[in-house]
Amino acid sequence: MKAEIITIGDELLIGQVIDTNSAWLGQQLSSLGITLYQRTACGDSREQILSCLHDASLRSDIIIITGGLGPTKDDITKKTLCEYFDTTLVTDDKVLEWVTKIFRMRKMPMLDINLQQAMIPANSKTLWNRSGTAPGMWFDINNKIYISLPGVPFEMKVIFEEEAVPLLKQKFELPYIYHRTLQTCSIGESFLANKIKDIEENLPSYIKLAYLPSVGAVRLRLSAYGNNKEQLETEVAQICNQFYERIGEYIYGEGNDSLNEVIGVLLKGKNKTMATAESCTGGFIAHQITSIAGSSKYYKGSIVSYDNSIKQLELNVSDEILKTVGAVSEACVKQMANEVLKKFDVDYAIATSGIAGPDGGTDEKPVGTVWIAIANKNEVIAQKFNMGDNRERTILRTCLMSLDMLRKMLLQEN
Ligand code: ATP
Repeated sequence: MKAEIITIGDELLIGQVIDTNSAWLGQQLSSLGITLYQRTACGDSREQILSCLHDASLRSDIIIITGGLGPTKDDITKKTLCEYFDTTLVTDDKVLEWVTKIFRMRKMPMLDINLQQAMIPANSKTLWNRSGTAPGMWFDINNKIYISLPGVPFEMKVIFEEEAVPLLKQKFELPYIYHRTLQTCSIGESFLANKIKDIEENLPSYIKLAYLPSVGAVRLRLSAYGNNKEQLETEVAQICNQFYERIGEYIYGEGNDSLNEVIGVLLKGKNKTMATAESCTGGFIAHQITSIAGSSKYYKGSIVSYDNSIKQLELNVSDEILKTVGAVSEACVKQMANEVLKKFDVDYAIATSGIAGPDGGTDEKPVGTVWIAIANKNEVIAQKFNMGDNRERTILRTCLMSLDMLRKMLLQEN
């Protein structure tokens, strides 16, 4: 069974609004076992909407439309759907009552255009909108389903989940799709693919593997399609076990786990604390760690030693280090990590120093050169990276690499 999404609105075409509705609907359809065949964005024009509806109905069984249901002149979806299905608008009394109630509660006068919210095409079924005034609509025409939803994301989501999904389940016998995602870090997509090549090649036809890379990380998503839920879940678990055996050191979590959350869980579990001394990341690591609720249990604070004078004053980095090997060096980050560990009396410390760019690079230390150190009370380790020439990505990558190095140190100590 194939589905298609049509998002309507000039604002989507000019990039004023990002089409998050399609992304969300794509995820929902996938978890329902419905294949999304195509996504189309079109402007607020009768001709474009008619043409999109016509083309989509030639290809797909389920066509989901979002946007253009409001009371303003540019919201023409309902009128156009009437034209497409050769029908007229009729008043839905329950919706009229609801819209009237909402305006009364808000102490706002009802205008004529607001009354139109309660009008729906005669051949459609109303999809109740408990979050707003524009209802959704369900059309079952020639065994094809058309679902029209408002553009406002939270209204669209509520109507889809509460009204459209139960009807889709009633109408179609949907297959089961099971997804499991492993989160990896500190290894590039191609190296990862190379390491698990044989496992991937031996996957059965009904289990697919997707690589989803982002800055410094790659998600591995296994999707299994079929009818036997238990069997699919067991098979996916077996494949995941193979991944853990082969590339376990790079896997930091599953599903929506983030590295900062994982670090928090590890530190809390061990009843340990940490601090940071940041130069090139300028407090970004501190921000990432403290964005997790409850981080005060394990995170003490940071010294943002962006300028060398602060490295000297607050972190005791010697004149000699700065004059001989410089601030972007193994000796400097090791000193920073050891000093903040002592100063804040914590169990673990992260230190970063690098050249985020675009200026400041040399032949010996080009833009993107970063040193990271991780210290505990017994040892301090440091690693040099080249993070590339994009400042923003260098900061993000440095943060991820630092957290991953700390994760590995925490796992080594049982
Ligand atoms: P309204 O009653 O508010 O007019 P509507 O159904 O007519 O609702 P639109 O006017 O098309 O919807 O869009 C309303 C708002 O919803 C837009 O300004 C935009 O912020 C958001 N929106 C619309 N379509 C999308 C989309 N595909 N992805 C994300 N946001 C969207």
